[in-house]
Formats: sequence, C-alpha cells, structure tokens
Amino acid sequence: MEVPHGRTFLCQGSAELRKRDGEIFESEGILAVVKGLLQSGVSYIGGYQGAPISHGIDVLKDAGEILDDLGIHVEFSGNEAIAAAMLGASINYPVRGAVLFKSTVGTNVASDAISNLCSAGVKGGALMILGEDYGDGSAIIQERTYAFALKSQAWLLDPRPDLESIVNSIEQGFELSEASSTPVMLQLRIRACHVTGTFVAKDNRPATGVSAEAKTDPIFDFANVCLPPSVYRHEEDKMQRRLPAAKKFIRDNKLNEVFEGDLDKIGIITLGGHYNGVVRALQLQGLASLDGQSRVPIYCLNVAYPLADDEVLEFCAGKSAVLIVEEGQPAYLEDAIGGILRRGDLQTTIVGKQVFPMAGEYRGDVLLDGIAKFLEGSSPTTLDLTPVTQPSAHVRDLKGRAAEMLGAEVPIRLPTFCTGCPERPVMTALKLAEKDVGKFHVSSDIGCHTMSTLKPFNMGSTVLGYGLGLAASSAVGPIMERPVVTLMGDGGFWHSGLSNGVVNHVANQNDGVLVILKNGYSAATGHQTLPSTTREQMGDGAPGLDIAKTLKAFDVKWVKTLRSYDLHAMVGTLKDALTTKTKGLKVIIADGECQLAKARRMKPIERERIKTGKRVVQARFDVDENVCTGDHSCIRLSGCPSLTIKDSSDPLKRDPVATVLNTCVGCGHCGEVAHEAILCPSFYKTEQVRNASRFERFAARANRWMISRMQGRTG
Ligand code: SF4
Ligand code: SF4
Repeated sequence: MEVPHGRTFLCQGSAELRKRDGEIFESEGILAVVKGLLQSGVSYIGGYQGAPISHGIDVLKDAGEILDDLGIHVEFSGNEAIAAAMLGASINYPVRGAVLFKSTVGTNVASDAISNLCSAGVKGGALMILGEDYGDGSAIIQERTYAFALKSQAWLLDPRPDLESIVNSIEQGFELSEASSTPVMLQLRIRACHVTGTFVAKDNRPATGVSAEAKTDPIFDFANVCLPPSVYRHEEDKMQRRLPAAKKFIRDNKLNEVFEGDLDKIGIITLGGHYNGVVRALQLQGLASLDGQSRVPIYCLNVAYPLADDEVLEFCAGKSAVLIVEEGQPAYLEDAIGGILRRGDLQTTIVGKQVFPMAGEYRGDVLLDGIAKFLEGSSPTTLDLTPVTQPSAHVRDLKGRAAEMLGAEVPIRLPTFCTGCPERPVMTALKLAEKDVGKFHVSSDIGCHTMSTLKPFNMGSTVLGYGLGLAASSAVGPIMERPVVTLMGDGGFWHSGLSNGVVNHVANQNDGVLVILKNGYSAATGHQTLPSTTREQMGDGAPGLDIAKTLKAFDVKWVKTLRSYDLHAMVGTLKDALTTKTKGLKVIIADGECQLAKARRMKPIERERIKTGKRVVQARFDVDENVCTGDHSCIRLSGCPSLTIKDSSDPLKRDPVATVLNTCVGCGHCGEVAHEAILCPSFYKTEQVRNASRFERFAARANRWMISRMQGRTG
C-alpha cells in the first residue's frame, strides 16, 4: 500500500488504535470508527473526503503502518463512486471491506455502484460509513441517507453517539451484512464523529484473504452479475430472504435498545443519532437523571432501516402515545411505524411532525420544544408539567430578548475566503474583466471557490454538483451572447470534472472558459491530497499529476497557467479568453497554493530557520490613512477579512478609512487591486526581517538616523 505520510499522526491516536483485548480505548468518535474496523478483520478500505467524515480519511492516512501490519489494502479513492465500487470485492469473495464518504452528496455520486452492489448482494461483509451532513452547519443540499437505504435495500445503522455503541455497530454491521447478504450503511452525524468517550478494546484482526484455490481460480457466478434474468432473482431474494434474515439478526442480537421508564403509558422512539439530544432535553425537563436514566421509556433505533416490526409492537403495546424523533422529511419512520401499528391493530397515537418541524436539524431548543408539546398533549395528568415546559419557554424568552437588543434582525455571518487565499484574486480579476468585456454567466462548482457566490463577489449562478460546473454550463453557453465562465477547483477537476465536463465539452465542440483554481489540495475538506498535489506540498507519496498536460492529452488546445496572485496577468488572460475568436474550450489554470495549508506547512520550517539563525522575511501590507480617500473600493474588490475599516484620526475626514489587521499574511492582493483598479495609492508593504544581515542592520540604523534628522530630532 502506498500512503502519503505527510501528516504527523498523533502518537496518542496511534497508541489507541493499537490497544489490545481488555484495554480501555479513550478518544473521539472517528478514531473509534477506525479501531472498530481494525477489530472487524477488514481486508480493504476505501474512501473519499467530505465532512463530517474527512477526519476518518486523515486518520487512515496517518495509520498506514498499522494497516500495513494487518495486511489491509487501503485506497484513497478518486471519488465516492470509485470507493463504493471497491465493495464489489465482497460480492464473490468472503472478504470484509469498508468505505467512507460524505452523504448525501457522496451517496449520490456512488448511487450506481450502490444499486448494483445491493442488487447482487455480498458474501463478505460490506460496510459504507457515511458522514450524514444534514442540518445546521451543513454546506450541502438537505437530503438524508435514509432514502438511499430504502430504494436500494441497504440496511441503515444510526448508532447512539457513544463510542461503545459506534464500535458495536461496526462489528455487528459486518455480521448483519453477512447474515443477510446485504451491504450495510452506517451513518454518523457530525456530533457522533467528534463525541469523546471510552470503550473496552479488542485485539485488532488481520485481514482475511481468499482461499488458495480462489486465488488462482477466480469465481464466476452469473447469478451475481447485474443483468437479466439475475436482476429479477436479486429483487425476489431481497424481499424473500435478505430482508427477513436482516430483521431476525437485528432482533436476535438486540441491535436496538429499550430503556425502560416509570411513565410507561407514553414512550419515545428515536433514531440512535438523536438519542443524546433527547436524553439531554429530558434532563433539562426534570425527566431524566444526570446519568441518563429517563422516566419516559425510550426505544432507541440503532438500526434505522429495516424496522423490526415485533419490537415496535412490543414497545408500543399498552402505551397511549409515542413520540417519533426523526429530523427532516419525508417522515419515513413515522409513516412506517404508523403502518406497523395499524397492521398489528394497536391504537397507540403516533406523534411526530405535529410537534416537530418538517425541515431542519433537531437542535437542543427544537427537541426541548417538541418533547414539551408532546408531553403537554399526551402525558398522564399526574405529571407536573411546569418543569417540562419551563426550559423551552426560557430559551424562547432569551431569543426574544436578544432579538430586541440587536434590533430588527440578527445579521447572518457568512463564510468567506481565508486571509491571503489564492482564489480571491481570481474573483477580483473576473470582476475587473467584467467591467471591460461586459457581464457573463458564471457556472460554479463545489469547493472553497463556491464562496464566490457570496459577498462581495456574488458570482456563480448555479451549483449543480462536485466537478459538474462545466457540464452545467453546456446548455447555457449557446443561449448567451458572451462565453460562459466555469469555476472549478483542482479537487472537482479530478473528482469528475475531467470526465464529466472536459470530455463532454471537447466531444461536443462546445465553447466556453474554464478557470481551474489549483490550490493543491482538497482544501475545503481539510487539505487531503489530490492527484495533482506535489511532492513539496505533501511529501513523498504525492503523485503530482500535471493538469495542463492532462488537458492537452484530451485535445484541449487553449490552456494557460498563471500565478493566482498576478492580478494584472489574470485580468488580461481572462479578457483574451472571453474575446478570442478561437472556438472551443479555453482553460486558465490559476496556480496558487492554499494559504491555510501553506501557512501550516511553512510555519515549522520558518521557526526552525529562525532558531538556527537563518534569515526569514515576513511581509504584510498596511494602509496610509492620510492617503486613504474612504471610498472602500479596495474592500469591495478584495473582500479580504484582514482588510477592514477604522475611524480616521483626521477630524476633517468624516468617513472611516481602510486599515489592515495583524492577521494579514502579506499576499499583496490588496496592493495589486489598488494598482489594477487605479484606486488611491494608500497601500504600502512592510517587511519584517528576522536574523537580518549586517548590511540590513546597518541600513536600518542609517534610515532611522536620516528620518530623525529630517524630522528635526537630534537623538
Ligand atoms: S482553505 Fe485555502 S483555498 Fe480554501 S479559502 Fe482558505 S486559503 Fe482559500
Ligand atoms: S496583503 Fe492585503 S489581501 Fe493580502 S492578506 Fe494582507 S490585507 Fe489581505
């Protein structure tokens, strides 16, 4: 296995992953996930980064040595479809495999492979660990993995955010997969990925291979091929054998949990992922102890799909009302449980979306409110409801008072490019080119650069998916006066932009301009490597594929590579691309390393240089407030968060002047903007030299002396 070891794997993480039988593992959710995989005897692991699962990819990269020792084959897949297709190894062979990616965007990309995998079924356990990115803080379309599990008939685990429960789900997930010949999805919300805790570890298990016979005589079984008539048999097998086998396994092995309580005429059925939130709300309402013992009985579904019908009936029997906790829409669980109760002739009232919102995350305040409403309508008359309703009333009151104090509306704080980001100058260049060429349609893609759609740039009329920006421009191009500009990162380019966009454009002889923002990493997901990540950036394992050469191999003739920060050249090249008579795809590669990654990479190097007496120069920019006109065009054209305003110390200037904060990294963009857009010449650059040469020290002293003489000082 070739794994880049560019990151420093935390010693503590490594030690936890090596924990033996009976030792206590102590860390956070995602490390526990990897430990769970190691304890399960997986033969192969694949995956693609994306929150909230990116950290899992980082851990796997850093755990290369441990994985090698166990004989586990690991690949960091080119996209989620490639990762999901890896699970094909488990169709014919009794080998366990796992893949990790973000859902639902990654599940969308992987859908074809997932459908085929679920149709054929598996011999070896196949686990998809999915980062469920739904709700507040999510940056993607608001859909849920549940729909994919239902339509493909994959089983969906949603363990309680507790390390023991997560690791059990992984181990039992493989067993469930094998017992029912079905791939299993395990969804982890962001809090589950980062929850901390302990569990009793087991020994890591080496990868199981195939028999010597199968090694030299690969299995062919047409029954496992997704073609007619096999697919008709697959569908029957899913319903007649696999689903009942799964339900039996879930029941027999008690994958779901029941927590009894004395208020036994009511109950709560919650997806495992919401369990902690539900118990916390009950604690605040005086209905659960600090150690989590609830007075309201709880049926915790660590398996979201399929439901074990008789378990549901057993829990609901004798209860007048049950609350269903399942965020988002459609209300899959509520509808399914309603159906089970009707078929089982139970008259228990189901309460769900009457008290909870149809859309949005079930945050603490939402859970408090929904549970309080349920209890107001359904709890026994003997229960004092004052402490139950008080917490949500208190939160409502606080929110109301905050809104009052802040005025009409609390302003939304939008994300923006980091200070010194190499992508910001490209957006400025597009704005400046637009002034000369006229307005053009911009097709956006996924990555840090999607922030071009926000202020101050507001560019990018559509976002259709990762690597799909160019494809999304193909029908807009012919109806527009000017060529369409597509913005795509190097991450999107390798993920699918090359195959989906570039190949399609070249094959259809489409016109258009593609700007590839080559920052060197999958920056938005935490700086994972890409095929074009260079050796210098990420260490020996980086392949460093060349985007320009790749494009030329695909017959793209107009390809220019420029430094992202060279605003003048970028504006000129954009104008050329937009006005040239040359037909076909024009590609500009804006080359600039992600500033955040560069800072992390360079800081230890610079510290070492300073320590060893080597010369280090740190630049930053500032604004001469005597020259600043207070027009603020520089801010509107740059948007750098280090560039802001302050009150002028000149009493004759009523408007605030621009100023640069200490967070400036000296990228020089604001100065270039002022020059290129012919703004006031108020920007100046300073350089802080550490371990300066003797000549530099002498020159600095001479300068200071000269300045003091000119100011009439003598000291
Ligand atoms: S992470 Fe890197 S590429 Fe993304 S906004 Fe920050 S500096 Fe720019
Ligand atoms: S030089 Fe200007 S644009 Fe660059 S980081 Fe500093 S303030 Fe921001």
